Amino acid sequence: MSVELLSTVREVRCRLQEVRAQGASVALVPTMGALHAGHQALIRHAAMENDFVVVSDFVNPTQFGPNEDFARYPRDPQQDQQRAAEAGAHLLFLPSVEEIYPPLSTAFHIDVGRLGTLLCGVSRPGHFNGVATVVLKLLEIVQPEKVYFGQKDFQQARIIEQMMTAFFLTVQMVVCPTVREADGLALSSRNRYLNSEERTAATALYRSLLLLQSQLIAGEKDPQRLTQQITTFLAKEARLRVEYVALVDPFTLEEVQQIAAPFLCAIAMHIGNTRLIDNMLFSPQGEILPPDRFFQRTEPQ
Ligand code: AMP
Repeated sequence: MSVELLSTVREVRCRLQEVRAQGASVALVPTMGALHAGHQALIRHAAMENDFVVVSDFVNPTQFGPNEDFARYPRDPQQDQQRAAEAGAHLLFLPSVEEIYPPLSTAFHIDVGRLGTLLCGVSRPGHFNGVATVVLKLLEIVQPEKVYFGQKDFQQARIIEQMMTAFFLTVQMVVCPTVREADGLALSSRNRYLNSEERTAATALYRSLLLLQSQLIAGEKDPQRLTQQITTFLAKEARLRVEYVALVDPFTLEEVQQIAAPFLCAIAMHIGNTRLIDNMLFSPQGEILPPDRFFQRTEPQ
């Protein structure tokens, strides 16, 4: 199957008008491109549940800080087209920066408030404002019935969910589990920055989440001790610099004071010049939980 490639808002709107005239349901999978099997899982899921799948492929400048990797972020539209088609997408939307941010529009943005200051928001101020702004634009352009996100960016999914609620958007949200390499490393477009030693060291992130699981199974219930154990484990790997290890409420993203209900363990770390994140949802007994039950907006409200 091939995927149609469009780059302007006008073209996408025209095409979707035709699609809708046939009675087809439309899904959106927002991405920054450099598509991998994690993105493809989202696309496959969307293709299973909808007639027509739009994948947006846009490296969004407003979610990068001044010293971040916007300029060197991997871009490979040809490969993206192939991978999107392989996974069952129908339309790949590849806009320019000017198309999404025309001159007079740049004064306007979404402010996501406190949720955007927690976890990754500490080191990336303004990041989630940029994410929410571009997702709102994409939702308005495509007006899908359903939109798909990955658990890997849990904080992003929670913030988008809250934005959609705040603005009474009726689109349904689906959050899919994180796709991992055989050794547990979460797939990420940024993994290609890693050299072979860094790539080996990066598996500590996944292993530290499994360590947390084993501690929970052993009956450890103290969030501070658990956080410390993970931090100590990660510190053994000389190439790693831990940015944060946090045990948080999956809804509010605030740190938990006790382990009495399902919680999210979220971690961010740096290896060389590469920043990686990962997370898992756990029951207090150490069961790993899927993301869907933590996102209530699966039906329009
Ligand atoms: P990105 O291109 O990194 O902005 O990601 C686009 C979408 O794909 C987001 O909803 C991510 O959460 C999701 N995603 C990225 N990596 C993975 C993965 N390893 N497994 C599942 N979803 C992912």
